[in-house]
Amino acid sequence: MAVGIKPNVALAQEAGIPVNRGILVNDYLETDIPNVFAVGECAEHRGIAYGLVAPLYQQGQVLAKRLCGINDEGYQGSVLSTQLKVSGVDVFSAGKINEDESTKVFKMYDDWNGVYKKVLIEDGKIAGAVLFGDTKDGNKLFDFIKKGGTDRGIFRILSR
Ligand SMILES: Cc1cc2nc3c(=O)[nH]c(=O)nc-3n(C[C@H](O)[C@H](O)[C@H](O)COP(=O)(O)OP(=O)(O)OC[C@H]3O[C@@H](n4cnc5c(N)ncnc54)[C@H](O)[C@@H]3O)c2cc1C
Repeated sequence: MAVGIKPNVALAQEAGIPVNRGILVNDYLETDIPNVFAVGECAEHRGIAYGLVAPLYQQGQVLAKRLCGINDEGYQGSVLSTQLKVSGVDVFSAGKINEDESTKVFKMYDDWNGVYKKVLIEDGKIAGAVLFGDTKDGNKLFDFIKKGGTDRGIFRILSR
């Protein structure tokens, strides 16, 4: 089993670019050194070094706009989602995955078919999900998580 990522910051460090776990960047993917930028797994934005490709594409889009002089709100961080097949079993997770005092939870467990589903609701909105064994509704849930919405119909679909 391999867990987590460790950015190689040696080159940046030797060049005098501020680093922490990754190369430190602001919302415009700028390092502290003028005209030096960082995107991808080596970059650390608001304390997070992302280890999946989707956030890195979003960072690339923001940096492209920055280099073209197009003003926008910059990179605000990414909601993470991942869809994997682990030892032949479909697994999906996105957003918040652990319950706390601010969340309500929808859970279903079908031992017979090997299916587990958990959806976290926070402030009336879907905030995260874990699907195991049946991940076909993952994209639909991810849309809700990104848009900050909910729909009671989704729970009927998940229960099927
Ligand atoms: C086994 C594995 C499975 C993965 N599966 C998934 C998945 O299913 N889904 C997903 O979203 N993500 C997955 N990832 C993560 C994903 O691959 C990375 O997040 C992504 O590739 C990072 O992109 P990057 O451009 O930041 O860095 P990289 O893709 O690592 O590119 C960095 C490049 O810089 C080059 N380089 C390094 N140092 C120097 C130097 N000094 N000079 C010049 N060039 C240099 C490297 O050779 C490399 O080509 C997986 C990663 C691994 C290792």
